[in-house]
Amino acid sequence: MQTECIFCKIAAKQIPVEPIYEDEQVIAFKDINPAAPVHVLLIPKKHLEHLLAAGPEDIGLLGHLTATAGLLANQLGLAEDGFRIVVNTKEHGGQTVHHLHYHILGGRLMKWPPG
Ligand code: C5P
Repeated sequence: MQTECIFCKIAAKQIPVEPIYEDEQVIAFKDINPAAPVHVLLIPKKHLEHLLAAGPEDIGLLGHLTATAGLLANQLGLAEDGFRIVVNTKEHGGQTVHHLHYHILGGRLMKWPPG
């Protein structure tokens, strides 16, 4: 855990959120500033600054995150019309919280390319 990391604090329950899903490795909760009718963040409880900070020991965790993102999208009712998973990474990726997170977005038609 990184003491100054807001998502570590959420994972450690120092900042309360209503979990959409939680297990030993990950937690999902609603984005505080939703960019779509459905906007959920899925994070590993382990602090990884971004995708590139994951090492060989984290491959299982990354697989679990990706599989869980799909399961959650289904549970959130997004399977029929589809959805978008976004992993903003570093400055050009638009990352503002430096703890790996998957955005699960749905409930409206997404545009491409992203801004
Ligand atoms: O990918 P990026 O780093 O920009 O996304 C961070 C996301 O975390 C934002 O969508 C922001 O609304 C969300 N957030 C949150 N709760 C916080 C701080 C940030 O849901 N306490």
